[in-house]
Amino acid sequence: MNLLDMILQEKRGLLLTPVIDQYLTDREIKKGEYVHKKKSFGPSWICNPCLRYCWYAFHRTKGEPHPIDLVKILDIGNAMHNLVESWVSGSKKLLGANFVLENDDYNLRGKPDLLFITNNNKPAIGEVKSAASFKFKNTSVSILNYPNDDHVVQLNLYMYMFNEKLKKEGEVLGIKEPILTGCIYYLNKVFFTTGNKYVRINKIDAITDKEHIVNYNQDIIDATLAKIRVLQKNISSNSIPDRLFEKTSKDCKRCCFNKICWES
Ligand code: SF4
Repeated sequence: MNLLDMILQEKRGLLLTPVIDQYLTDREIKKGEYVHKKKSFGPSWICNPCLRYCWYAFHRTKGEPHPIDLVKILDIGNAMHNLVESWVSGSKKLLGANFVLENDDYNLRGKPDLLFITNNNKPAIGEVKSAASFKFKNTSVSILNYPNDDHVVQLNLYMYMFNEKLKKEGEVLGIKEPILTGCIYYLNKVFFTTGNKYVRINKIDAITDKEHIVNYNQDIIDATLAKIRVLQKNISSNSIPDRLFEKTSKDCKRCCFNKICWES
């Protein structure tokens, strides 16, 4: 019996799980129905190397629904964001959380997780990421030594957007000086998924969190804005970019636009 059959069999006859699963299934199916009126480039996805992926994301293309067990894990990640926000709020250092930043010059729109004051009284932008426990071990995908490249681009874009807004408005959320330093704060999901019997936990003494300081990098911004200009040309001429990966690649297999990309 495979894992999915085991899960389905175990859920038969339960009381609360089917209620939750039904809600999450309906929510997944409706996902993407909310569309922000203005299409824009998002710092969280513009770093995807596949321009075609960015095309779909820009056009708010509805991706494939996630399996429910993955939805639960993703929701746990979202809940962890709220938890970190409440910690920073409790410290009285929080200036803004999940606030909208827009940049009309490049049609960018995004929401940094945190704007806060450091213990050295400097403003900083913080991006919170929940990460699987194996990323807190010394593996090739570890985030112990380096943050994920995509997250570095995302954070740099937030600093860029914040500073551009500051140039125009003179003050943003009480801050009058440019922000040139931010951080990516990784929190270990293992502590929040111990109830899931399908997550194997060998060590309880795992690392809880890991922070990386990221300094503003103009080269990253220049490269990302150049990419946006290319995409803008594609969008204006309504020409969908070429696929970057092969159908059998791991990038395509886990891409939420896989079906529309390869079957339409
Ligand atoms: S399925 Fe592959 S080629 Fe198509 S958008 Fe996704 S990553 Fe790009």
